[in-house]
Amino acid sequence: MTPEILKQIRTEIKDDSLIKFYHSKQWQSVRHERLRLDHYECQVCKTQGKHTHSTTVHHIEHVRDKPMLALELKNTETICRMHHNMEHPEKLQEFHKDKFENQERW
Ligand SMILES: [Zn+2]
Ligand SMILES: [Zn+2]
Repeated sequence: MTPEILKQIRTEIKDDSLIKFYHSKQWQSVRHERLRLDHYECQVCKTQGKHTHSTTVHHIEHVRDKPMLALELKNTETICRMHHNMEHPEKLQEFHKDKFENQERW
């Protein structure tokens, strides 16, 4: 993590354009290393004795909360879609908020 990258990530959080971070070379290399270490299996399912193939890499400390840790290999884990949704209840809340605001506008 360089000061330039951190500054870039903070800007993307502010502008709601973190998608750029997820397309960066730096993140892609951390992501692939994590998938390789986890054998492309959901680590939460694994604790329950199940093997679920996944290519989703999740930030344990979310990028929005701890941008400093965005490229830390040990801050990442391979996780399946179901468990990923459970890790991000805020996405659901944001969706409801948007819906509510749209209703207000109309
Ligand atoms: Zn899982
Ligand atoms: Zn996540």
